[in-house]
Order: sequence, then structure tokens, then C-alpha cells
Amino acid sequence: MGGSRDLSDAFSGTRALDLARTLVAFGPRVPGTAAHDRAAAWIASQIRARDARLVLQDFTVAVEGRKVTCRNMTALTGPALPPGLVLVAHWDTRPWSDREPDASRRRQPGPGANDGASGVAVLLEMLRLLPRDMAIATVFVDAEDVGQRPEDYAQGSRAWVRAQRGPRPRWALILDMVGRTDARFAMEAASRRSAPWLVERLWTAAGRVGAGPWFSRREGPEIIDDHTPFIEAGIPAVDLVDMADPAWHTHQDAIDRLDAGTMAAVGRAVLALVAEEAGMEGRKYSPPALSVGYDAPAALSRERSLPWP
Ligand SMILES: [Zn+2]
Repeated sequence: MGGSRDLSDAFSGTRALDLARTLVAFGPRVPGTAAHDRAAAWIASQIRARDARLVLQDFTVAVEGRKVTCRNMTALTGPALPPGLVLVAHWDTRPWSDREPDASRRRQPGPGANDGASGVAVLLEMLRLLPRDMAIATVFVDAEDVGQRPEDYAQGSRAWVRAQRGPRPRWALILDMVGRTDARFAMEAASRRSAPWLVERLWTAAGRVGAGPWFSRREGPEIIDDHTPFIEAGIPAVDLVDMADPAWHTHQDAIDRLDAGTMAAVGRAVLALVAEEAGMEGRKYSPPALSVGYDAPAALSRERSLPWP
């Protein structure tokens, strides 16, 4: 991997799809379950394998009257400054499949491949490549999808935003449901109100790197998601989200419906935006040499010492 390509070219959709497959294989990542704990340890190990500084934030939420512990995991890269850019995906799985056609299965969670795993996988693949001369927070938030009332959604990002001190980040970009075959992203309405200039820049960046076909200029419905707490705190935030996924909150949201091409389109578009922020647009780029390696078993075994409450 020499320095023969620019930043966005280095993103591998195949690697992102492999990461999503590994994450989905733990089982539904429902807070309070063993699969959730194992997935958290794996994500933490992946962050460390990319030489990022890992910050854990534990908090509790109530799911159907039961208190469960949740965990945000933040990967800090670049200088030890308050992050200027924040990239976010939720890693939890919804405890129920409300939209499942088979009513007898609505009480069980689905696999959460597009809804959750796809965003995590794209961010992990990006984390390997992010320029290390800019302070960036890549945030894997928990408890996005435990809501039954509007105020119960996005609890992880709410907790993360509440804990921030110091200057506000320039902007936050949320990736949710970004891996489906045939995905076509509309411009989510609250994002457009919060940061129309950022929506425009992301869509333009997508066009520049050949991801234009995945980005539609249609305005999508307004939703509550992980961008909501950022916007409420006065941080410009955009949610890149595929609300047209017919498998959303069903048992059909499985790994075989994800596509390396879609994930590459998203990863490259976002990296092109980051490159623009870093003033390195179009320049040749060598990914940082990682000390542990991409998926080294050593990093995984080290992770066993990570405390879980
Ligand atoms: Zn969901």
C-alpha cells in the first residue's frame, strides 16, 4: 500500500463488509445480553488495533423496566485537542422487530446488519485511514435503538454530547444504515435544516469520488436519530441514513443484504469530505503505519483485560 492513491481511494468496501460480517456474527447486540458484551469487547479491540486512543463511557438505560449498562466507545485520533470533527455510528441492535411481517416474531430482535453494523464497519475501516494530523473523534454509540417513545432514542449520543467539555466540534456526521445493496440516500430533513452547507459538501464530495449514484437530491423525512442530540446542543450535524430499507426493524436485516459497493461509496464520500477539511484534497496519501496491524490476534487477546461492569 504505497502512497500512490489519495485518501478516499484507500477505503476498502470488501474490508468494511468483512467487519460487518464479524460484528453481526456475535448475534443481536441488544443491551444487557452476552452478545452485546462480546461485540463491545471486539469493537474496543478493533479501535486499539488502529492505534486510536480509546475512551469508554458507561451509562445505564431502562429497557422495559429493566436497568441495563450501555457503553459508548470513542476513538480519538490526531493531536490531543478537543475534536474538530465527530463521526458517529450506533453499534447496538433494537431489542424488538416492530416492523416484522410475522407478528409472532416481533418480540425478538433482528440481526441488525444494516441497522447498526454497517455504520460501525464503515467507521472502523475509515479509522485505519484517517489523517493523524487532525483531532477527530470517531464515536461508536450504544442505545440508539432502545426507544419506544421519542425521548428514549439516541440515548448513547445524548450521554456523549452531555459529557463534552471545551470548544464545540465544527460538525458531526452520523452514519446509520449505510450498507444496503441499492441504497440511495435522501437528504434527511433535520440535517438539512441544521447544516445545509454540510449536506451540500458531502453530496458534492460523493460526486467527486464516483459515489454520486448512491446520493439522491431528494429530501427525505425528518427522523429522530443520533444527530438529534448534537443538533439540540448547537453542533451542526448531518445524518446519512437509508430510511427506505424495506428490512428496517425486521428479521430480514441480515448480512447477505449488505454490499461492499455501497459501503465503499459511503466510506469514500466521507473520506473525501475529511480530506477537504484537512486541506489534503487530491494529494497522494499513505495510510498511517499501524503498530499492531489491522486485525492482529495480539490486539484481541489484550482486550480480555478490558473491564466490563
Ligand atoms: Zn433502528
